[in-house]
Amino acid sequence: MSAQTEYRYNRLTWPEMNEAIAMQKVVILPTGSTEQHGHHLPLDVDVFLCESICLEAGRRAPDKILVLPPIAYGLNLHHIDFPGTIHIEPEVFIAFCLNITKSVAYHGFKKILLVNGHGSNTPLIDLIARKTVLETGSICGALGYFPLAMDAFNHIKQSEVMAHADEFETSLYLYLAPERVQMDKAVADDDVRGKYVSSDSIYSNPVRFNDYWGRWTRTGVHGDATVASAETGKAIFEAAVTGLIDVAAEWQGWPIAERADQHTGPVQGQIRW
Ligand SMILES: [Zn+2]
Repeated sequence: MSAQTEYRYNRLTWPEMNEAIAMQKVVILPTGSTEQHGHHLPLDVDVFLCESICLEAGRRAPDKILVLPPIAYGLNLHHIDFPGTIHIEPEVFIAFCLNITKSVAYHGFKKILLVNGHGSNTPLIDLIARKTVLETGSICGALGYFPLAMDAFNHIKQSEVMAHADEFETSLYLYLAPERVQMDKAVADDDVRGKYVSSDSIYSNPVRFNDYWGRWTRTGVHGDATVASAETGKAIFEAAVTGLIDVAAEWQGWPIAERADQHTGPVQGQIRW
């Protein structure tokens, strides 16, 4: 193995890391959660699906991608009524992940991507990416893997709602590890919807709101898991993997321009925010 072919960050030795830095691979941090996913799926859904996509993208494009060990925990207190769910406070999550992106930047990697598999992490990874850009000389972007697969999924989906432990996630899990999916326990469930508000905020409602799941569901499912299939999962997986390789290619080539300071007088460059 060498930096030319190894796509997993922590499988490199430190001399090989210098090669990977010279290649300016895009360093990817997968983020997920350890949270309930209904009666039919294990708690590792978000981190397992997200990491699997990142690793396969890296395996196919080792010249472009280096995948960090994933973050297996996220903002999850709204799921805490379901046994097993682990919650990390948003401030802790942001600080912890920012320490990772800053370490990566310190070593000389200029391009970092946060690839997320847990919806509730979305506002947090946005901030981590922005803080990384503002506090280092590297650039960092954030994305969920879901949008990369939406076109493919929309063509074949059997259900309307895409949210949690639903057709989308169950299909992907069925494709990657069917022996861990208990399809005989799969159900359909929905949240409470008004004109402006929904209790899981996944629609285009103008009000952002996430209620405790213990208030509106007894199953922990949002969407219809019963119509999931490995075939649908394969289409989602392929679209997400090829999409992520495309993103990494664009990000690897993204220019980092010199900043032009327009002040006519001296600035206080020693100020740290
Ligand atoms: Zn999930």
